[in-house]
Amino acid sequence: MQPVEQFLRQFFEERERKALDIYWDLLGPGPTEDIESVTNFAGFAVATTRINLDEKAYMRHRYRLRSVGSTWVIYQVSYQCGRCRGNGRNQGSDEGCSRCLGAGWVLQTGPISL
Ligand SMILES: [Zn+2]
Repeated sequence: MQPVEQFLRQFFEERERKALDIYWDLLGPGPTEDIESVTNFAGFAVATTRINLDEKAYMRHRYRLRSVGSTWVIYQVSYQCGRCRGNGRNQGSDEGCSRCLGAGWVLQTGPISL
């Protein structure tokens, strides 16, 4: 079985290569997406990544992967909630965050593509 980290790094490299083919003139190279943690379960895995945008700003993504044969497919991507910064609470209160409903993560909708 291919390690999840290796699969994701290849996925990110391929995505970067395709983006550069199309957008190089506009954007140049983008910030790298680092894998923070991977948790393996029977037949699936969850990986959390971080993109440092500058010294203070960053984004986190959570990938849910399913094993297919000896490799993986990404079937769900979430991003860390920007409103509560991932803690699931409205700032300064015990109420659940109204954007992510307390999950701390927001499901990314639309197709998962390179
Ligand atoms: Zn939230």
